Amino acid sequence: EDEADFVLYNTCTVRENANLKVYGHLGKLRHEKKSGRNGLKIALCGCMMQEPDEIEKILKEHSFVDLIFGTHNIHRFAELVYRMETGNGPVVEVWPEAKEIVEDLPSERKYRFKAGVNIMFGCNNFCSYCIVPYVRGRERSREASEVLSEIERLSKEGVREVMLLGQNVNSYGNTLEEKVSFAELLKRTADIPGIERIRFMTSHPKDLSDELIRAMTYSEKICNHFHLPLQSGSDRILKEMNRHYDRKTYLNLVDKLRLEVPEISITTDLIVGFPGETEEDFQDTLSMVETVRYASAFTFLYSRRTGTKAASLPGQVPEDVAKERFERLLKRVQEIGQEESGKLTGKTREVLAEERNQKDPELFTGRLTDNTVVHFKSSEDVIGKIVPVKLLSSKGFYYLGVQDGIAR
Ligand code: SAH
Ligand code: SF4
Repeated sequence: EDEADFVLYNTCTVRENANLKVYGHLGKLRHEKKSGRNGLKIALCGCMMQEPDEIEKILKEHSFVDLIFGTHNIHRFAELVYRMETGNGPVVEVWPEAKEIVEDLPSERKYRFKAGVNIMFGCNNFCSYCIVPYVRGRERSREASEVLSEIERLSKEGVREVMLLGQNVNSYGNTLEEKVSFAELLKRTADIPGIERIRFMTSHPKDLSDELIRAMTYSEKICNHFHLPLQSGSDRILKEMNRHYDRKTYLNLVDKLRLEVPEISITTDLIVGFPGETEEDFQDTLSMVETVRYASAFTFLYSRRTGTKAASLPGQVPEDVAKERFERLLKRVQEIGQEESGKLTGKTREVLAEERNQKDPELFTGRLTDNTVVHFKSSEDVIGKIVPVKLLSSKGFYYLGVQDGIAR
């Protein structure tokens, strides 16, 4: 940001805070641009740009922005930059919806040994608090053959772990002519040589099938981790949220997952302060946290998103009340997470080594298949390898260990 010739912000808009951050950055760059920093160009893309009101605001209040594009035309980036460079004034190109799935876009990855793979785009669920369906458009799945050949290519390039991505992976395939279920896709991914670990996100509880639960044991490669967003523990609020499940069905899924995969770690997303949430509703969320005993959870303060159904519901919860509940929830989530982690102390488990520890160069850092972080001693460079590690002690959210076998 401080030295670049070209700054591109890929924005999020799921909560208002994300938008506020963008405006903060723009405020900072305004001076740079005004003071004539040589040739500085500023571009914005991503979900926030799919909101017409935000674009209007940016063009009015931050007219120094040079390029704006949305989520459906990323593949036009090169052309748009060319137009920006050769024209006058800001270039704005946002498509209200996706025309097609564009395959084979170039990518650069942070790690050479793990990669995220989009299997679908958009969302049809319209949870009442959520802006994603509006900015990402209708759900559409990539052809299984496209997904699998991308993963084969990645494997040949040295990728060991893939994360299959979608807003609701459990409805993968619904838009395809040749139907392939997510469970089937998972199995076919596991059959690809060279791929050692498979993760996925996100699973909507309403569509979590027995077929997928069974598929979790199809291969050792499928990681022992399940992210299953609960959002609220109150049946009444879940209904208002349009989530299509209740406490009982959710707990039933948790039981089935644990029966099938005893070492599975379950994580979740929780929202506090949804309109109309009472202390009693909040207690229901706390009680689900106590019952399920999540390994960890992302906790969010409800954020009112213009255009969503919940934005116009009565009984918006005052900020101080929501914040106080949020603090209570976070505390319990962390305490339980700490109690839960550490169960594997003394055992040897495989870790995918990601990097050398920044504080202690004798240690490497990686993750177990259940996603817990491990710092461990090794005498060779094991980055990108799968290493058996004896887990010596648990430090709450991570283990300390030592290599206990040959890395592969
Ligand atoms: N498709 C995924 C989640 C996508 S958004 C799913 O359904 O699980 C990630 C998380 O952000 C959600 O699970 C929810 O907990 C949170 N979130 C979404 N909209 C929000 C809002 N308006 N306020 C607060 N949290 C929100
Ligand atoms: Fe948002 Fe619900 Fe879709 Fe997830 S499933 S992206 S929470 S609307």
